[in-house]
Parts: sequence; structure tokens; C-alpha cells
Amino acid sequence: MDLKKWYAKLSKNQKNRLYLQIGALIPLLALGMTGRMVVLILLFPFMLLLGPIWCGWICPMGTLQRISGLLGKKLFGHKHNNFISKKTHEKLKYVKYFMLFGMMGFAGYYILILNGTVDFVISVFMATVVIGVILSLFNERVYCRYLCPAGAMMGLTNLIKPRTIKRDANSCVSCSKCDNSCPMGIDVSKTTELRNPHCISCNACVDSCPINDALSVKWDKKIKNIKEKVINK
Ligand code: SF4
Ligand code: SF4
Repeated sequence: MDLKKWYAKLSKNQKNRLYLQIGALIPLLALGMTGRMVVLILLFPFMLLLGPIWCGWICPMGTLQRISGLLGKKLFGHKHNNFISKKTHEKLKYVKYFMLFGMMGFAGYYILILNGTVDFVISVFMATVVIGVILSLFNERVYCRYLCPAGAMMGLTNLIKPRTIKRDANSCVSCSKCDNSCPMGIDVSKTTELRNPHCISCNACVDSCPINDALSVKWDKKIKNIKEKVINK
């Protein structure tokens, strides 16, 4: 894969996303787990509106997987991202929910019952990150797709966020470019409103669409209706 060609093909929006990811990588890694948690909590109100933007635009683990994925594309060409079949992916994507409850259960048991250290729990967590980043050489964002407990939790904001991606079925020409551009393996072209809990709000699908307005990011009018109902009560 030619990196120059890859970069030239990125939309302005996706270039900005790349700059933000690269710019935030070192400072966020330097902040450590506690610092990252503070940034995450500060971002949470925005995620309620826009979905898990931490995952798609800032998270250093996501950036490392992007770098690993680019290296994988260079090494394996078209084979990259085809090591895990669609059928297996559809099953594996739920593993992150087991990771979420497993990590919480393990942390609680190890720290509260066994009087273990937080540092050990963080080391176990970081080991899964390292595995995910290495495996992203073969398939896109393995850690985000299948292992990240934080992503599993933040992804739930997709279900309630008022700003969503909509597909206009009348304009869509079913070219599948949106599906192919999605780092999370979501079939965007099969939906009319994207409320998928695995989405990372990166907007790569919208930017890849060749048809004007076939995919667009819009505020959900239903929220306005909900707000009106709540206020008029
Ligand atoms: S990229 Fe656009 S036109 Fe192509 S399938 Fe997706 S929504 Fe439809
Ligand atoms: S569906 Fe679109 S916004 Fe969501 S992760 Fe896939 S490409 Fe990004």
C-alpha cells in the first residue's frame, strides 16, 4: 500500500481526524490511565450527543491500531482485514461485553477480596490492548471490535445520541463503499438510521460515500419531540 496515495484519498474530515489522533497520541499515553479517565469523563456529555467520539477520534489505543492496520495493509495487501470471516466477526463482536463484565468482576474480586493492587489489574488490561494492537496487523481494529470493555460501554451512547448518521435509500446506489470503509465492520448500506452500538462515530462511512446526501449526519428530530413532551408535562 502506498501511504501517499492512501493519505491523498482521505477526505478533509478524515485528515482532521488523523491529525487529532496523532496529536493526542503521545500526550494521552503520557497522562497514564488516571489522566485518560479524566479526559474520558470530561468528554462524556459530548458523547451523549455525538456517540463514542473518544473511540473514533482520540483514543490512543485506537490510533495505535490504526498504525498497526496501515502496516498490516502494507504487509498483506488485499488479504488484510480478511483473516476473520464476516460470520465469525458477527459472533466475536459480542466478546467485548463479556470483557466488560469480566474485567469489572476480576478487578472487584482481585482488589476487594484478595487485596490485590490496581497496578496488576491495569497490567492485565494493558496486556489485552497489546494483543489487540498486534492482531490489528491482520484485521482492522481487533481490540476495538472484539475486546475493549470501555468501547463496549461507550458504544451504548449510539442508542440514544441525538446526532445520527442517516442513509437515504432513494439516493443510495448500493455501491458498498460505506461498508468497506467502516473500521468496525458495520454494514452501513443495510441501515436507514445508524444506531449500532459497535459504531465509533468516526464518520468514515459518510466521507466515503460518492453520492451527495445518500449518507448524512443529522440531528434527530425525535429528540426534539421527546424534549417537547418532557417540557410540556
Ligand atoms: S457509500 Fe453511499 S451510495 Fe454507496 S452504499 Fe453506502 S450509502 Fe449507498
Ligand atoms: S458506521 Fe460509520 S461512523 Fe460508525 S464506525 Fe463505521 S464508518 Fe465509523
